[in-house]
Amino acid sequence: MALSIRDIKSIINETISDYTGNCNIISKWKEPLISVASADDLYFEKLKRIISEKHKNPDELLPGAESVITYFLPFAEEIPKSNEAGRDASLIWARAYIETNRLISIINKNLKKEIEDKGYNAAGPAATDNFSKKDLISYWSHKHVAWIAGLGRFGLHKMLITEAGSAGRIGSLVVDFELPVKARPTQELCLYYKDGSCKECIRNCVFGALEENSFNRQLCYSILKENAAKYNGSADVCGKCTVGVPCAIL
Ligand code: SF4
Ligand code: SF4
Repeated sequence: MALSIRDIKSIINETISDYTGNCNIISKWKEPLISVASADDLYFEKLKRIISEKHKNPDELLPGAESVITYFLPFAEEIPKSNEAGRDASLIWARAYIETNRLISIINKNLKKEIEDKGYNAAGPAATDNFSKKDLISYWSHKHVAWIAGLGRFGLHKMLITEAGSAGRIGSLVVDFELPVKARPTQELCLYYKDGSCKECIRNCVFGALEENSFNRQLCYSILKENAAKYNGSADVCGKCTVGVPCAIL
C-alpha cells in the first residue's frame, strides 16, 4: 500500500526533528503544512503559458505521475523578526534559507526512500536553483505548484500566503500514486486583494523592485545577489517584503 497523507506528515515531522537535533542547525520551524495536487490538474498545462513553455508538467519529471505533494515549512517567529531592520538581509534569515533548502532536500530524499520501499516512485527538483539564471524563469516553480495544490494564495508581494503566513519555504515532490486532493482556498489571504488595503510589502521594498502593478524581477535578483555576496555566495536572499507585514506569520 502506498503512503497516506498521515505517513507523509510523520516522515516530514521526524525529518525536521532529527535535523533540528543536529547541533550545527540554528533555524527552527513551526508545524509544516501539506497539500496535494492531482498531476492531471489542468493548471499545470497553464503554467507553460503563464511562466514559460519550459515549465515542466508532473509527468515530465516522473513518467506515470499521479499526484504532487507540496509542503510549507513556516519559519519560527524569530527568523522573520531578525530580518525586519536594515537594508541587508539578516544573518539569521540567510542561515534559515540555506538550512531550509538542505532540510527540503533531506525531506524529499526520505520521502522518496519510503515511497520506493513501497514499490512506487517519486521525483522532485531541489528547493532552489531550478531556474534559468539568464531570464530568471523557473522550470518548476514550487510556489505555483503549491498554489495548484491549494497550499495558499498569492499576495501582492508575489509570494504564496498559506494559513501559517508567507515567511517560510516550500518543497514539492511528484509521485506515481493517488493521494486525496483538497479544494483550493477561495478566500483571499492578502489584505490588498481582500479590500485594497495594506501594501506594506511594497513599502518594505525600498529598492523599487516591487510596485503595485509591476515586479522588476531582474532588480529583485540583483538585491538577492548583493546579499549572497555578503554571505559567501551561498544565500540569494532579501525577503524584506515578506517580513514585518501582516501576512508574514498567520
Ligand atoms: S504585505 Fe499586505 S499587501 Fe503585501 S502581500 Fe502581505 S497582506 Fe498583501
Ligand atoms: S525580495 Fe527584496 S528586492 Fe525583491 S521584491 Fe522583496 S523586498 Fe524587493
